[in-house]
Amino acid sequence: MSDDVVAEADPAVRVHGLWKRFGQQVAVAGIDLTLPAGRFVGLVGPNGAGKTTTLSMVTGLLRPDDGTVEVRGTDVWRDPVAVKARIGVLPEGLRLFERLSGRELLAYTGRLRGIPGAETDRRAAQLLDVLDLTADRHKLVVDYSTGMRKKIGLAAALLHNPEVLFLDEPFEGVDPVSAQVIRGVLERYTQSGATVVFSSHVMELVESLCDWVAVMAAGRIVAQGPLAEVRGAAPSLQDAFLTLVGATGRGSGQDLDWLGSGGVNGGGNGGRPSGAK
Ligand code: ATP
Repeated sequence: MSDDVVAEADPAVRVHGLWKRFGQQVAVAGIDLTLPAGRFVGLVGPNGAGKTTTLSMVTGLLRPDDGTVEVRGTDVWRDPVAVKARIGVLPEGLRLFERLSGRELLAYTGRLRGIPGAETDRRAAQLLDVLDLTADRHKLVVDYSTGMRKKIGLAAALLHNPEVLFLDEPFEGVDPVSAQVIRGVLERYTQSGATVVFSSHVMELVESLCDWVAVMAAGRIVAQGPLAEVRGAAPSLQDAFLTLVGATGRGSGQDLDWLGSGGVNGGGNGGRPSGAK
């Protein structure tokens, strides 16, 4: 059996008929999704495609209107405690305990996760070191920068060594040096057989990191599979993505004839109202 067949037979995540509506707005329209274990999986899509809503339902943070989600074979909404013990989550707009230091936050997370104190200390020291936060470990989280917050959030999500790690836009607001550090940690983690599922709209990043992608648009999955298969004959994932989401040719800006014309009244006329001298 090929690796792909094995990975799909025992997937990290299996989603069936998942729906979420907010009033009249359909955020997720009955999607089916199978994400293989032991891979770097990218969930990509334009703004408002439904990525965050999907990840929230998959990780037990948002109750679906309909459909099922299994993580490593366990139903997320029937047995949330069992699933939450096996996953790590770095949600979008993560709220942290601001009045704790980075080190205290990890100690607290370790206790919540039921990890013995000495083991928490050992893991926390290593994570802080690898993520280059050791010098700032006694600083309050409220004083952390955006990138530092992502890194301490990632450390907290990894502390209990989850089988599957879900990250919503993990590289947003992160400088290239920190991004490289985060990337190294995630690569090491997947090499050990764990699964990373992350959402992003940065195609170059997804293309360089992921071996499996699912593309969402307007609440639906428009493609899913190994990166090379989804990219197909297109020169890059970005080109394949633009075709898949039907965005080629859009946004060239021809309609904005007033923009950059130097005036406030608009009109492709040097910015002057017609008739003005
Ligand atoms: P982005 O890349 O911009 O973060 P996304 O793919 O993560 O977008 P979602 O945040 O899942 O998209 O949003 C999907 C749709 O659902 C959007 O139209 C959004 O406005 C709507 N939506 C999401 N959350 C809510 C909410 N709590 N109340 C009302 N509408 C919502």
